[in-house]
Amino acid sequence: MAEIIRVQKGTKDILPAEIDLWHFMEEKALEVFSNAGYKEIRTPIFEATELFARGVGDTTDIVNKEMYTFEKSERSLTLRPENTAGVVRAFIENGMHRLSAPIKLWYKGPMFRYERPQAGRQRQFHQVGMEMFGIKDPAADAEAIALAIRYLNALGLNDLDVEINSLGCPECREEFKTKLKNVIRPYLNDLCEDCQKRFEKNPLRLLDCKVESCKEIYAKPEIQEVIQSDFICSECSEHFTLLKTYLNDLGIKYSVNKLLVRGLDYYNRTVFEIKSNNLGSQNAVCGGGRYDSLVRNLGGQDTPAVGFAMGMERLYSLMQQFPQKKLTAYIVSNETSSAIKLVSDLRNNGISCDFDMTNKKFTKQMEKASKLADYALILGEDEIKNNQISIKNLAESTQKTISRDDIISVLKQVN
Ligand SMILES: [Zn+2]
Ligand SMILES: [Zn+2]
Repeated sequence: MAEIIRVQKGTKDILPAEIDLWHFMEEKALEVFSNAGYKEIRTPIFEATELFARGVGDTTDIVNKEMYTFEKSERSLTLRPENTAGVVRAFIENGMHRLSAPIKLWYKGPMFRYERPQAGRQRQFHQVGMEMFGIKDPAADAEAIALAIRYLNALGLNDLDVEINSLGCPECREEFKTKLKNVIRPYLNDLCEDCQKRFEKNPLRLLDCKVESCKEIYAKPEIQEVIQSDFICSECSEHFTLLKTYLNDLGIKYSVNKLLVRGLDYYNRTVFEIKSNNLGSQNAVCGGGRYDSLVRNLGGQDTPAVGFAMGMERLYSLMQQFPQKKLTAYIVSNETSSAIKLVSDLRNNGISCDFDMTNKKFTKQMEKASKLADYALILGEDEIKNNQISIKNLAESTQKTISRDDIISVLKQVN
């Protein structure tokens, strides 16, 4: 036998036994986002490498270590590691700034990052998310947070913690970065390798470090004093205060986490993260924020924007499995020509059904019907002779015989 070719490390088949839950996540996304006036956008899986270098930020791990980049016809292309950059490119290229604000878009689909695979982290993974363009007011930030919560609730994830923070604007943030660097500088040699690199390139990301020895350093009183200080300027502060007012109006509980900086370079002012407490442990399920300079940085008109993304594999792992969808009917018969006609007739009338093509024994067919369908439709010799069908409710084990002519109306009633 020929050698088996296996699925690539960090990738996964989504199998028929899992697909109902994926469809459920996708249908709920369509429902919840449409309900708030969002339209889906589908951008290409690969883009010019430069889009991500400029759009995601060339100091991020994503761009430096994790991109799938390849050359074709002397162009450098990259499989999208996230979708915001692609959506922004499409927004600019299609002149969407001319539409009346807000321009509301959502997306879902596969993303690619070359990471060490671990539980819930794959190299090809899926995200669902939204972007809203054109609104400076924190009403947009509040809507994004409320929308994320509504979607998570629709998936049955109700035990949520919302954390928010303001990163300020480029001006006030610069001052904060300087203060932060000054207070951390004496400990520079004790920081982990990543933090030593981040120190010059992107000191805000120091606060993201998960290394215990770094966390201990950042917990020192003089460093905490800088981290916890209100460094943001009065305009940024007003924006943040108004966001909190809106969230209070919406009855959304949140906490302010000054350590929340998010991994991406493009955020300003609002950043937020939502954690789920479903299934015992706490898991981050949604991250987002405001990115007012990204559209301009990618060559578009100055356009404020807010967005979030969620990892669908993570959502999947937190959702309760529900019973697989069944067919409405399964035809049990040894008369293939009668069965095939009945199946066709039912399907033409929108009733989901199937039948046995292998001519198994009645008992085997009944077993299969119980697994696959809600009703068994029995077409035996007597039924065919009398133009009848016996219909068995498989959950209740009740059976009755009806006229062949009534079957569609009967099944439509129970469907
Ligand atoms: Zn500011
Ligand atoms: Zn560190």
